[in-house]
Amino acid sequence: RGGGVAPSIRLNDGREIPSLGLGTWLGLKRDGSRVEVQDDSVEKAVEYAIDAGYRHIDTASIYNTEDQVGRAINNKIKEGVIKREDIFVTTKLWNTRHAKEDVVPALRESLKRLNLDYIDLYLIHWPVGLLANGSFDTTDNAQTWQGLVEARDQGLARSIGVSNFNEQQLDSLAARTHVTPAVLQVEINLNLQQPSLLEYCRRQNITVTGYTPFGSLFPSKAQDDAPPPRVDDPALVNIANKYNKTVPQIALRYLVELGVVPIPKSTTRSRIEQNVAVFDFSLTQQERDLLKSYDRGYRTIPVLHWIDHPYYPFEKRQH
Ligand code: NDP
Repeated sequence: RGGGVAPSIRLNDGREIPSLGLGTWLGLKRDGSRVEVQDDSVEKAVEYAIDAGYRHIDTASIYNTEDQVGRAINNKIKEGVIKREDIFVTTKLWNTRHAKEDVVPALRESLKRLNLDYIDLYLIHWPVGLLANGSFDTTDNAQTWQGLVEARDQGLARSIGVSNFNEQQLDSLAARTHVTPAVLQVEINLNLQQPSLLEYCRRQNITVTGYTPFGSLFPSKAQDDAPPPRVDDPALVNIANKYNKTVPQIALRYLVELGVVPIPKSTTRSRIEQNVAVFDFSLTQQERDLLKSYDRGYRTIPVLHWIDHPYYPFEKRQH
């Protein structure tokens, strides 16, 4: 199947995660507004993905796609293509449910939408808590984390982790709760390679999942101020041609070689198949050096409307 089986990586809790997954967030339009879920394209995408060999699916309660992800997985179980234990499913706790006693109920609601009885990985989506009216909730993340530990102890989540936490927040969480997250999910792509955060996670044995792995590669999605490269970059096209691959595949392969687990999103069958076919070649050191040179510390998802939250995780220089 053209390199389409992602080998697994062992997490610090002894469980395994497939080293590439399918993203299921429909994303933002160029004007910053959300793409609404309108049809069953995510359900189809997850079915295509499972048929193409994906065994790892990423969703979140806020994406409004848990129901479709669950239907696709249950369809494929019914068809006998996979068993529940063959597939790794991640979902995330939304920012309005940070109170410790809210975590297990929020996860139960996700499991109900997914029609599953456990999740492989439950993540705190953001360190930034919010109240229902949009104002800031400053519940200590260590409290929220105790709720995830409880969910794991009850068997509702096999592994637990966090997303969009910075190094200080990870350090403080582990020091105060004595439970190190199994996974950190953050934005990683050619423009935002985060070498020091990756190094920190390697030292702590935290596996990094990379979201928005294509960054600003596609002109239709890139902001006007986004640094290069684009998908037609001649140096990238050269590397892709050498391996008979595409530029998006080169970008994904680079992340895999950094030890990052990319979760590319596509609802297009041919691209879903293409994106997982990155396990039958490897880059040279010289090629990796070139790819490294595109790092600009440029973030595609800075969520500037939370910049004044006391737990805002990112550098404030875009402001
Ligand atoms: P991606 O970098 O995955 O880019 C998705 C876009 O790339 C879509 O427009 C898709 O188009 C297009 N695309 C995919 N493959 C190809 C290809 N081979 N050639 C050309 N175009 C392609 O961005 P996302 O922001 O969606 O990130 C991926 C996932 O990460 C999300 O879906 C979500 O699961 C997760 N995420 C998590 C966040 C967090 O806070 N924890 C934040 C953001 C994302 P099309 O679908 O039309 O084919």
